[in-house]
Amino acid sequence: MKELTVATERREQLVDITSQVDSEVGSSGVTEGTCHVYTPHTTCGVTVNEGADPAVQHDLLQHLDELVPRSGVWQHAEGNSDSHIKSVLVGPSVTVPVVGGRLRLGRWQAVFLCEFDGPRQRSVWVQVA
Ligand code: ZN
Repeated sequence: MKELTVATERREQLVDITSQVDSEVGSSGVTEGTCHVYTPHTTCGVTVNEGADPAVQHDLLQHLDELVPRSGVWQHAEGNSDSHIKSVLVGPSVTVPVVGGRLRLGRWQAVFLCEFDGPRQRSVWVQVA
């Protein structure tokens, strides 16, 4: 397993980590299999979605904010309950096929770390098998 470190710059942000993950796939030596991308945090997530048009990233974050507003009647005293809930909605991991020693993504797909409580340093674990 390899660990990537991703520095986020805003409270909420999608960071395209496709090239870093693909590079780990390349150095793993695995040519056919799967790549599991997992983040061990409770206020961020990992997803696969459109990487070509940044407006999609903006719309995703804006809609999650509409679904889960930051200010609410929360019991959790840390002030980041919305971040925890968004993290649950997105999930902590994705699995991507590996073909020919590369990630086999769809034409418009990219792998994103989804930050919901930044800026922070985040870990992403990449396991290729
Ligand atoms: Zn919290």
